Amino acid sequence: MQITEIYKSLQGESTYAGLPCVFVRLTGCNLRCSWCDSEYTFYGGRKLSPEEVLEEVLRLSPGGGLVEVTGGEPMLQERELVPLMQEFIEQGLTVLLETSGERPLERVPAPVVKIVDVKCPDSDEGDTFRLENLETLTSRDEIKFVLSSRGDYEFARDFVLRHRLSQKVNAVLFSPAFRKEASGARNSSHCLLDPQELAEWMIADNVPARLGLQLHKFVWDPARKGV
Ligand code: SF4
Repeated sequence: MQITEIYKSLQGESTYAGLPCVFVRLTGCNLRCSWCDSEYTFYGGRKLSPEEVLEEVLRLSPGGGLVEVTGGEPMLQERELVPLMQEFIEQGLTVLLETSGERPLERVPAPVVKIVDVKCPDSDEGDTFRLENLETLTSRDEIKFVLSSRGDYEFARDFVLRHRLSQKVNAVLFSPAFRKEASGARNSSHCLLDPQELAEWMIADNVPARLGLQLHKFVWDPARKGV
């Protein structure tokens, strides 16, 4: 497997936010989101066997707990990743999979919590979500929309209502995009969409979604990697 990094931090962007979590960040992505803060994952990394990845995860989290598989786009390495996620489950870990939903998700093991980041128009990768993946979602999964404009918000709001997402999944998250070059101050001044404005739209429309802020960008310098 091609791996950019494995590290332990706090989960930052889901209903699991705030919990200690081991991150396995896979190298490579087939999208190029305009606000991507993970461009360092597009190339490079190191080759590790699934056994070596498992060993490192168990070293960092020996008593079980959370492991998040992310990227890049982790499902590009589906052949090795699916059995590895199964192994994580057998070791007693709770497994989160962060994916754009552009690749098929039907082979993801059922106990894995899928956190699906449906791309909005201003990401420049709108229309990449594979609609068939809606059939794979369960009440343990979460859907996230990263928003940078009113247009993105309206796309997300309408998508949630049209597909009755709040009845399908555990949580629907609306999260303001961060400037990818953000560094220094740990506050919402780096958000491309003001969280207060987003909150007011959500309240006005009574959207069945929750506001999500990228917790780690408020705890650590937004430019810091490996947190
Ligand atoms: S899918 Fe994720 S890693 Fe890939 S370009 Fe978009 S934000 Fe970056």
